[in-house]
Amino acid sequence: MNKRDGHIHTPFCPHGTSDPLHAYVDKAEKSGFTDISFTEHAPLPAGFMDTTPAQDSGMNNSEMSAYFNALNEVKPNYPNMRIRSGLEVDFIQGFEKQTSHLLEQVGPYLEDAILSVHFLRYQNRFICCDFSAEVFMQLANDMGSVQAVYDLYYDTVEASIIADLGPYKPKRIGHPTLCHKFQHVHGEQIDDDARIRNILQLIKKHGYELDVNSAGLSKPGCQEFYPPEPYIAYARELGIPLVFGSDAHSTEGLHKYAEHFYTEHY
Ligand SMILES: [Zn+2]
Ligand SMILES: [Zn+2]
Repeated sequence: MNKRDGHIHTPFCPHGTSDPLHAYVDKAEKSGFTDISFTEHAPLPAGFMDTTPAQDSGMNNSEMSAYFNALNEVKPNYPNMRIRSGLEVDFIQGFEKQTSHLLEQVGPYLEDAILSVHFLRYQNRFICCDFSAEVFMQLANDMGSVQAVYDLYYDTVEASIIADLGPYKPKRIGHPTLCHKFQHVHGEQIDDDARIRNILQLIKKHGYELDVNSAGLSKPGCQEFYPPEPYIAYARELGIPLVFGSDAHSTEGLHKYAEHFYTEHY
């Protein structure tokens, strides 16, 4: 079996750890993986102001070449491991042109990429909805309900799937139910079944892959995959290529819950 982890961060992540690249690959090799993608947070689109307190959601533009060089240096040391140079690219509404421009510059170096929604546009400001439970709940309060935040999240994911971001648009949709991250904090039961199914159908229709992301399982407020189990099964039924992603920001988090994915879904 080809064990793949398609969503891994690196020491280039401004909010991650300094665990070196080779430590990730060593662990991957030891754990029986044969195919991994480093998908660091791409620089945010030109003109976009990062609204997180430390403004550390993405790499700096100036680090991009060092990032790709570092990946190229590590690859020859692991002849039995496919190591893909990738990025996790933010989809930010209203910044499609700037994002296409960024992709035009880095596209030729990309061997894999994920398109993810973290920032939501509400009343001309942008909120990083997964930053903290406080930020999430503040947005729910401003919008009038948790349901409204979920809907805005799914609207934005849908927009990301249909957006024209040029020839280098990422082929994989990242954690499409990230709005569940604080579900056990607010404790509200939101019926978003139809919305999640619709998103998966849209992913299928547009020929994209799905990031089956285990990061939520480690979050006490979430405790599930993005997307949750029944939807992983549904995505499989639809014939969407599923790519496991641990979304690790440390070697400790690398491949977490991979066994679960590989025994349940393969
Ligand atoms: Zn991150
Ligand atoms: Zn992400």
